[in-house]
Amino acid sequence: MKLLWGGLFFMALSSVNRLSATGTADAMYEKIRQMSKAELHLHLGGSYPIEYLRTIATPEQFAALQAGIDQLAGGIEYQKAFFVFGLVSQIVNSLEKVEQGTFALCRALQADGVAYVEIRTGLKDFGSGYEADLKAVLHGIERAQQPDFKARVLLSVQRSSTPEHANATVDLAIKYRNHGVVGIDISGDSTIGDITPILPIILRAKKHGLAIALHIGESPLEKDQLLLLQTLKPDRIGHGVHLTPKAYAWIRAHKTPVEVCLTSSELAMMVDHHASHPGIEYYKNNHPIVICTDDPLIFRITLTQELLKLLNSGTLEFKDIEKIVRDSWRYAFL
Ligand SMILES: [Zn+2]
Repeated sequence: MKLLWGGLFFMALSSVNRLSATGTADAMYEKIRQMSKAELHLHLGGSYPIEYLRTIATPEQFAALQAGIDQLAGGIEYQKAFFVFGLVSQIVNSLEKVEQGTFALCRALQADGVAYVEIRTGLKDFGSGYEADLKAVLHGIERAQQPDFKARVLLSVQRSSTPEHANATVDLAIKYRNHGVVGIDISGDSTIGDITPILPIILRAKKHGLAIALHIGESPLEKDQLLLLQTLKPDRIGHGVHLTPKAYAWIRAHKTPVEVCLTSSELAMMVDHHASHPGIEYYKNNHPIVICTDDPLIFRITLTQELLKLLNSGTLEFKDIEKIVRDSWRYAFL
């Protein structure tokens, strides 16, 4: 009997502890969610809300997408992770869907306490040219604009982009520079393609006042790190996980902010565990970083969850989270 009462007391006590632990976690989540946040690294194709995609996908398309996302949740080699973008493209296959999806994304971000977002997208031709695609994104953003929510666009090129595609992208970025476009993003598989032929084209964008965000250090197989940094002098870099000593010295000397995407880097197997992302060390060494999601759809993550994850990793304190969120506004291209 004594044992039984003891057991019941213990169970009651541990459930109280569990409840209070959950309550504390919920309170911290809410505290971070309510912070006015800037999301500076997010790809449109990897960020459409899943609820929106469910309304426009066929059952087969939706099942394939969910299977792809499930596969990534278990971790997948960096170069193999890109297939999910193809599944999303099959679903978001018209200008109307791009516009509606952009709008839905903005609303979802707003609900997460994001007050400013830079949305990256590689332009597609749905039959009426790249400009129509850009206009669809800009219309979606315009409709979602609120006094406490703004969105801007970075147009993406890849290391393997053809000069024609890069030129068309940069032309549009320049044309829409004061109408929603703030920069150029260099993304895609960083181990594929020779970027040298399109470097002068990207520099043309820079000359017109557009900012440059460069994905770099995603894979130890990258060969062009120092060349890219020295030539483009990017305003921010994405990931920065596998930087060569010379590339790291360059970003240190130029105080180039690093967009740290914890979940993405863990699931795309750039790091073994998000707590070992070198960006955390960069921050501790007084180097500017900003926490971002990369692809909230694909990695099933929100910015609030990323920040909470960073706090829970035990590597930084709450005052650091506050500082990172505050500082992210300084690194925005707005
Ligand atoms: Zn990215």
